[in-house]
Amino acid sequence: MQTLRASKCGLSTAQLPSSILDVIDALTKAGYEAYIVGGGVRDLILGLNPKDFDAVTNATPAQVKEVFGRRCRIIGRRFELAHVYAGRELIEVATFRAPPKKAVTSASGMILRDNNWGTIEQDFARRDFSINAMYYQPRKGIVLDFCHAIDDIKNKTLRLLGDPTLRFEEDPVRMLRTLRFAAKLNFNIAPEILEIFTPEMTQLLRDISPHRLYDESQKLFTMGHLNRVLPMLIDFGIWRQLFADISPDISTFIERAAINTDQRIQIGKTINPAFFYAVLLWKPFLERCDFYLGKGIVPAEARAQAGLDVLKRQATRTIIPRFAETFIREVWEMQTRLLNPKPQQIQALSTHARFRAGFDFLLLREKSGDDTTQGMGLWWDAYQQMSTDEKERAISQYNRQRAKSRRKATTEDVVETKPVAAVTEIEPLVNEPEPRSRRERKSRAKSEKPVQNVASGGSEIGYDHPILKRKRVKRDLSQVIFGPTQ
Ligand code: ATP
Ligand code: MG
Repeated sequence: MQTLRASKCGLSTAQLPSSILDVIDALTKAGYEAYIVGGGVRDLILGLNPKDFDAVTNATPAQVKEVFGRRCRIIGRRFELAHVYAGRELIEVATFRAPPKKAVTSASGMILRDNNWGTIEQDFARRDFSINAMYYQPRKGIVLDFCHAIDDIKNKTLRLLGDPTLRFEEDPVRMLRTLRFAAKLNFNIAPEILEIFTPEMTQLLRDISPHRLYDESQKLFTMGHLNRVLPMLIDFGIWRQLFADISPDISTFIERAAINTDQRIQIGKTINPAFFYAVLLWKPFLERCDFYLGKGIVPAEARAQAGLDVLKRQATRTIIPRFAETFIREVWEMQTRLLNPKPQQIQALSTHARFRAGFDFLLLREKSGDDTTQGMGLWWDAYQQMSTDEKERAISQYNRQRAKSRRKATTEDVVETKPVAAVTEIEPLVNEPEPRSRRERKSRAKSEKPVQNVASGGSEIGYDHPILKRKRVKRDLSQVIFGPTQ
């Protein structure tokens, strides 16, 4: 172990928010050891802006609670952690961890239970990469480096602690972390990792809960280097593990969306990570729509059904939370509305909660060479810049053109042949998801008129349609094994 001077690593307390200093100081004052560890230290040394700071201590979670009282909450059971609220921020305080006492590993060697407190040396050996295992004591101005991690930082090398095969077997998510950090930091993956990082190895990800994989996929999407990591996901065989039906091929649309996401993050704009899922799953969605249309199902219903199917298939890999699924389906549904809006609904549509995301999606499609958008991406783009008068003129011009092309059209969409209702109200983009409990479902069923389902050729998907009865996989906390953010 070498003790480095913090200032030599480019670290100073001035770079730290008061929240983390407050936590370190309170623990030290109470007689415990406390360090900043992980990504915060790594990123500061690299001159990057850390996402957050994690603390580690020899105090047990119960002792941390004693120090911080009501500001502290202990979370997790198999992997206990203390959450300390410092001002508006939340600091995760972990206790030094030793290897699990008994062999609580799965058949493939994955650690399943993990609440065994230990020493700093043991804690170090349990961390994933050398560069994530530097312990910074800001008040003493020192960094404890157990494995010459500082050299790996200088040489831009991502090195796993211990035997890479064992470390991947213990926690296959480390494979995703490898690609994430390599892309985010622009580091080289150490040769001993490359040697064993095979498509067979990625099969181990099948044992990871789809909930945890969803969380990891979000981290990949939002780290600011999505465009760099996508080809890596394909090259290392991770793509197939994460995305059930998306062919491993980066279309112009996907690439543009990735670049766009990265740019937004760079300039500090918010992003909705579900948006990228909407992009990834767009092609499978269209294919599934065609499938239903081919069966003679009316378009609106085909879309609803296709959306549910595609998301259900994806849930076998990453379980997208219900609110994000609704977002995705709404973005897709917006595509139809924006492509062929009823003139009297244009204004209302442009103020719809999902308009922005739907429009961004449409424009991205258009700019990626998708001519099925019929130029409507640019039309909406221009529309938003117009004054009220200009908007009115644009709408009536659109109306005239629409009427013209309708007269021309020989075959018309069933939905579109309905007389245009003189209302400006917009129907919900997607139907409410089914209630979760059986009792709620029953009471909704009673209050609803009987509806026909797809199989009987009706125009609605009934509450009892099999597609709506999908079961949610319960989150399996036994597999959450390491790392404050898990
Ligand atoms: P960032 O927060 O920038 O994504 P990070 O390195 O801080 O990166 P976290 O997931 O916040 O990543 O985890 C904090 C630290 O916990 C890591 O730096 C690492 O030391 C440890 N850690 C997290 N996950 C694992 C894991 N799966 N295996 C081993 N150690 C882990
Ligand atoms: Mg972190």
